[in-house]
Amino acid sequence: MRSVDARRLPVDPGPAGWNEILPAPGPARELEGAVTADWLVIGAGFAGLSAARRLKQLRPDDRVAVLEANRVGEGPAGRNSGFMIDLPHDLDSDTYAGAADEDLKQIRLNRAGIEFAQEAAQTCGLTGTAFQACGKHHFAATERGVEHLSAFVNHLNALGEPYEWLDARAMKELTGLDYYRAGVFAPGAAILQPAAYIRGLARGLESEGVELYEQSPVTRVDFGPDHVAHTPRGRITAPKIILGVNGHAESFGFYQRRLMHVLTYASMTRELTANEVRRLGGEPEWHAVSAEPMGTSVRRIRENRIVVRNRFTYDPSMEVGDGRIQHIGRQHREAFARRFPMLPNVEMEYCWGGRLCLSRNGVPAFGEVEEGVYSAVCQNGLGTAKGTLAGMAAAELATRTASWRVDAMLAYDQPSKLPPEPFMYVGANAYLRWHEYRARGE
Ligand SMILES: Cc1cc2nc3c(=O)[nH]c(=O)nc-3n(C[C@H](O)[C@H](O)[C@H](O)COP(=O)(O)OP(=O)(O)OC[C@H]3O[C@@H](n4cnc5c(N)ncnc54)[C@H](O)[C@@H]3O)c2cc1C
Repeated sequence: MRSVDARRLPVDPGPAGWNEILPAPGPARELEGAVTADWLVIGAGFAGLSAARRLKQLRPDDRVAVLEANRVGEGPAGRNSGFMIDLPHDLDSDTYAGAADEDLKQIRLNRAGIEFAQEAAQTCGLTGTAFQACGKHHFAATERGVEHLSAFVNHLNALGEPYEWLDARAMKELTGLDYYRAGVFAPGAAILQPAAYIRGLARGLESEGVELYEQSPVTRVDFGPDHVAHTPRGRITAPKIILGVNGHAESFGFYQRRLMHVLTYASMTRELTANEVRRLGGEPEWHAVSAEPMGTSVRRIRENRIVVRNRFTYDPSMEVGDGRIQHIGRQHREAFARRFPMLPNVEMEYCWGGRLCLSRNGVPAFGEVEEGVYSAVCQNGLGTAKGTLAGMAAAELATRTASWRVDAMLAYDQPSKLPPEPFMYVGANAYLRWHEYRARGE
């Protein structure tokens, strides 16, 4: 038997607006004492909860337990920007010519994740904004951004994907803003209120018999024919484990020096007053990513709030302090002021950050990593769709269910090794700063 202590536990910096604007959840059910299960899923994000759901579909009579370190909805799954994206971000890459097959594979996998989430939302009775199959916009504010958008639609044409081009007037009608020069509407994405979706999914799974324990971080795992996961007040023994902990797979000793821990940041305004809504004009709801992947995504949500997201930092410790959140919160305020000059007194009510996990070669970290232990991690920044897909596929792999999704996931290379520190730290942050600089204005 091999025992591994979790080297780090997840820390989620700043209160995430999405979760804060929902009603407070009921008391958490913590793991206490010794429990046995047929399946243990660690992590209640997109990957973990989708794995639990797929397990219940494939093995309805099996006991499925989920351990989550914090409250469901507090982690990255409840603090992202909610773009469940079908089209790869970098369709406009220069290397596109040879990449069409890879793009088509990625689109098919992402869409399988979106379909699974849509069906889950329906089954769990999620209404309103929790899951909307409404598509997303790509906005361009600069000459360079418009060039990116043009390249993007060329590639959409080549792939036979539908879209709609918006000129500056159409952008003004949609947003009420003079800031943007052009936009593209792509109908395939789904849009989440991420905390509502993930909390709703968790409650739906509980009603189907999944045992979910919150505030129950796994601090040690004894790997054996029967694995034992220890939490501060209890333990679960199960023959099979699915790891849905994203970058924290490394905390359990898997994929050492192969996972890049990056944080990104978002802020949400207070609710606009009726007068401010009138002054802004435009449609009551829209959801836009930037024409450049390193630019600012902006959502105007039905609750009459605006959400902005930008900045990336490479932090191998996976933790950042309050000072960083406050500093980036001020940058969000400036990004907001440039776009929404008609709303000078609207403050950011919530500022937060959250973890992403990327690999250098852009592949997931998927497969059986120890006998009876399956990994569904490393979503490369797009975990709403990719995490959902990875969780489903991990459940299929673990139950030996034949599936094109498993074949496609297993066909990826393993995440490649990272350069040693401090070179990686310096290089990654320099790369991020340079690309953020080039995307300034977007
Ligand atoms: C501000 C922001 C904006 C983003 N925007 C988007 C977006 O628009 N679209 C998109 O696709 N993605 C977006 N992302 C990324 C997305 O949130 C992640 O890729 C996604 O949440 C990953 O899903 P996951 O289930 O793999 O991991 P997570 O959501 O990170 O879930 C893993 C869970 O494991 C738990 N865990 C970790 N260690 C332990 C332990 N020892 N014991 C028990 N539990 C543990 C964690 O608490 C966590 O809840 C964004 C992220 C941020 C921070």
